[in-house]
Amino acid sequence: MSMQVKFLGAAGTVTGSRTLLTHGRSRVLVDCGLFQGTKELRALNWDRFPVDPASIDTVVLTHAHLDHSGYLPKLVREGFRGNVFATAGTRDLCEVLLRDSARLQAEDAEYANRTGHSRHKPALPLYDEGDVEACLRLFRVVPRQEWKALVPGLAVRFGRAGHITGASFLEFQVEASPSRYRVLGFSGDVGHSRSRVLRPPEAMEGPDTLVLESTYGDRLHARDDVAQSVVPIIRRVLERGGTLMIPSFAVGRTQEILFLLAELERQGRIPEVPVILDSPMAQSATKIFFRHPEDHIFDQAFGPTREELFPRFFEESASRDDSMLATMRDDPKIIVAGAGMVTGGRILHHLKRRLPDPRHGVLFVGYQAEGSKGRYLLDQGRANGSIRIHHAEIPIEAEIFQVSGLSAHGDYEDLMEWVSRFHQLPKKVYLNHGSPTAMEAFAEKLRSRFHVEVQIARNGESFSWA
Ligand SMILES: [Zn+2]
Repeated sequence: MSMQVKFLGAAGTVTGSRTLLTHGRSRVLVDCGLFQGTKELRALNWDRFPVDPASIDTVVLTHAHLDHSGYLPKLVREGFRGNVFATAGTRDLCEVLLRDSARLQAEDAEYANRTGHSRHKPALPLYDEGDVEACLRLFRVVPRQEWKALVPGLAVRFGRAGHITGASFLEFQVEASPSRYRVLGFSGDVGHSRSRVLRPPEAMEGPDTLVLESTYGDRLHARDDVAQSVVPIIRRVLERGGTLMIPSFAVGRTQEILFLLAELERQGRIPEVPVILDSPMAQSATKIFFRHPEDHIFDQAFGPTREELFPRFFEESASRDDSMLATMRDDPKIIVAGAGMVTGGRILHHLKRRLPDPRHGVLFVGYQAEGSKGRYLLDQGRANGSIRIHHAEIPIEAEIFQVSGLSAHGDYEDLMEWVSRFHQLPKKVYLNHGSPTAMEAFAEKLRSRFHVEVQIARNGESFSWA
């Protein structure tokens, strides 16, 4: 029996990952992501789902990032009642990320009502906390490297992808005829082997066909040690009595940066100052991090111990009051706070207070999307001399820095190295999760290196398989 594979998102874009597998009378959805980014992309979240959600038997998740999991509560709201299969790490992170997503949806709706910017009157959230709780009850935890039967003739196996806690690639074993099985692989988002904290990706057995992400299909990350670029920035700001503010993503990036600071302190390369983590979400994500040693290198033979992973004077500001007190302190220190692209969160209070003072600094450690306040600070902020925060025009006198090399995604060399470790090369590769230019460039590289057939996935397109 053949299977139909249909791309319902993340083809030509990097968000809204959803792929529908139809095998006989069964429907399995691989990932259930939100479209994120521009207004046009976000509007896609309001489109009617291409098939009746109630007709989907099962959802399988590669990982918890919202562009892979954030549409789930909406799917449940529209009638989906099947199981959601995921690793333990993904389940734990989804609990934190989906609840936060419901809160953001409510804020968006409230904003739209206040400003009259809505197609609907009144504007409603995409989903609410009740939908999130209903969705979390559908989760079923699956261990890695074991076949799990999903529907008749179709089983799945999870393997470690090294991207964030819980992140996995998927191998689907499909019964093509009573005595013949074929394997379809989904990379999900794949990490690399340079992380300080995540264990590297495992290899796939040997899928006949592979659906491969291509986020960095046309780019290479800096290979030189990020520590080298960070040390002079930290010293410079602290030595003049300033505070270094690091906007950071709660999951993954925050832990990487904290552990890097701890390492640099131990090596005596930066002074020991208070390091304040001011983000309830990042604090939850860090707790989850330690619950999943299967994904991380701490406590391993050559890895650091848990104590060694935190800076000596590490503090967490839990409540809003703690956070407010931290904004008022004048000692030299480092503050790590969300949101990573300065689209909201507690980092705004720190920036509002400290941007007007040239002693301080802002260090960006991740990608800043077009239209975000982070992008503005990097590109035009200094030239324009000010930035709007909480309805006030704030002068920018603090220094703005950026370092690369902390990405959780592998670049094209990493992805090709990963594929070359498979026990057997796939015969055909479909590329998704990338911009059109990244996918074109990556397709060429894969063809010439592995002599495989490569096709670029397009939204709404499908192929028959097995
Ligand atoms: Zn991801």
